[in-house]
Amino acid sequence: MKILAIGRNYVEHIRELNNEKPSEPVIFTKPDTAILRKNNPFYYPDFSKNIHYEVELVIKINQKGKKIREQFAHKYYDEIGIGIDFTARDLQQTAKEKGLPWELAKGFDGSAPISDFQDISNFKNLKDLNFSLLIDGEIRQKGNTGHMLFPFDHIISYTSNFFTLKKGDLIFTGTPAGVGPVKIGQKLEAYIEDEKLLECEIK
Ligand code: MG
Repeated sequence: MKILAIGRNYVEHIRELNNEKPSEPVIFTKPDTAILRKNNPFYYPDFSKNIHYEVELVIKINQKGKKIREQFAHKYYDEIGIGIDFTARDLQQTAKEKGLPWELAKGFDGSAPISDFQDISNFKNLKDLNFSLLIDGEIRQKGNTGHMLFPFDHIISYTSNFFTLKKGDLIFTGTPAGVGPVKIGQKLEAYIEDEKLLECEIK
């Protein structure tokens, strides 16, 4: 399986990092070794001094597809979850300045904690879905899918022009405003609506 991820999908987050608003989704990938499941802890890596949290909704692809038209994209997922796109912001800043790729900043071991996946029929309206991140009980990020520049179906259609999507592939769909650094000892909790689906301790 592969993990695709979308950068710059929420306007307020684009502003906070002084990035340009893209005309098509910004795509990067993480290897499968990035995944952390079952609320396992995240071990702060020694190559970064500025690991940031980014809470994101995650789509799980349910069948193979290529060049999927947007109007049919909804047939390619029936489960979503929540995850954290841990980012070594210091490495990413250096890469951005030099025009280099982001893999080391985004794809390192443990950089993709994910929850169990939920059937989308559990949610009233995927186009108006709230999600949030708490750190040590304090709210840090709040998102709503209504504020995405590129909604789920556009992301699936667009990415499938470049990558054949396969059953089990995951797509991180971008983070809302409020990103920031994590510290050893903190506990992160991620929610979709009022349900806590993911916990992650920083060790
Ligand atoms: Mg992200």
